[in-house]
Amino acid sequence: MKVFLILLFSAASLPQAGTAQAEASLRPAVPETRRIAVRIYSLNKTSSVTLNPGEGGVSAGGRPLLGQARAYVSGSSIVLDGALKTGPLKSLRLRGTVWISGPGLNRKLYSGELVITPEKKQLKIINTVPMETYLAGVVTGEASDLSSIEAYKAQAVAARTYTVTHLKNHSGEGYNLCDSTHCQFYPGLGNISAKASAASAATSGEMLLYRGQPALTYYHSVCGGRTAEMTYVWPYDYKPYLISVRDGPAARPYCSIAPGFKWKTKIYFTGLTRLARGAGWLASDEVAVGMRISAWGASGRAAELEIFTQRRRAKVSATDFYHGIGRRAGWQAVRSSFFKVLTGRDYVLLDGVGNGHGVGLCQWGAEGMGRIGYTYREILRHFYPGTKVAVHD
Ligand SMILES: [Zn+2]
Ligand SMILES: [Zn+2]
Repeated sequence: MKVFLILLFSAASLPQAGTAQAEASLRPAVPETRRIAVRIYSLNKTSSVTLNPGEGGVSAGGRPLLGQARAYVSGSSIVLDGALKTGPLKSLRLRGTVWISGPGLNRKLYSGELVITPEKKQLKIINTVPMETYLAGVVTGEASDLSSIEAYKAQAVAARTYTVTHLKNHSGEGYNLCDSTHCQFYPGLGNISAKASAASAATSGEMLLYRGQPALTYYHSVCGGRTAEMTYVWPYDYKPYLISVRDGPAARPYCSIAPGFKWKTKIYFTGLTRLARGAGWLASDEVAVGMRISAWGASGRAAELEIFTQRRRAKVSATDFYHGIGRRAGWQAVRSSFFKVLTGRDYVLLDGVGNGHGVGLCQWGAEGMGRIGYTYREILRHFYPGTKVAVHD
């Protein structure tokens, strides 16, 4: 097995899904024709984009765009140049299907309506798109490694319900959700998989309900054999359906088919010291000389760690450790808080299972269940006990 080595910590990486914001209030479900507003390229700072019409065409400012054009910030306005030219505009509205690319941007396909406005000398792009189109994109991104259609359907219902319960994430900023894992990863429509489209269509309008209301459907990649109870991971109110469940037989969990189910990461004391100082767990003159797990959650994951220095033991919550190390060394360095700590002469070795926060649906567990004949409804009931799938209106 490949052992991940942490020698040097890099700058901040992606924020983790759903951790930074408070739980959104539940609201009535939306009709199927509902459109949602997504900020795209939300993690990119860019002052210009290249636009190319997709299949079916696109209009820009009400006129058909027949070739390539560039939209860029000029002062506090947007200018379009190329196959269509405009003077400075307060905002540029596109309708149709369009490929977007640009310096430092992945080339992506979008449809629906896009509004491009300037914000602090950068472009702010908001894509308003029908819910089911958006979901086909989300499910494509989330399930691209999976093959079971039932796992895709379970993911579609979880993502649809997640969307509806998080519509207010960015309500003060003029859109519903951003396209990063802060809200829900949305890669656009460039590589929509047939299974993702089929799964969204087959479950159209269906949501996961608890006592008749949309549930909080957190999901993650690999639980490692047992999901995590939410209250051990985030300081939100207890939910009876976000408890720790065993993911199949202990000897062979459903998600044990996942690549990277087991992982090992070696952290030298020098790296641990740098991380702990950077995160504020140790003072600038303290040196890490060891680490141990001092408390465990209901699922067997680490709940609290102690970092030893020359003079004391600094306590760190396992969630803070997981996020702190993820932000500084990348999210694949310590993939979960489901690990043991082995100590060497000048390092600790984290010997772990799973990938992600562990709350709710285990995507690879869903895949494992789908492959042996479980339906998406059974998969969802397994990971969110006490809920049911229904069309909610
Ligand atoms: Zn967001
Ligand atoms: Zn699992």
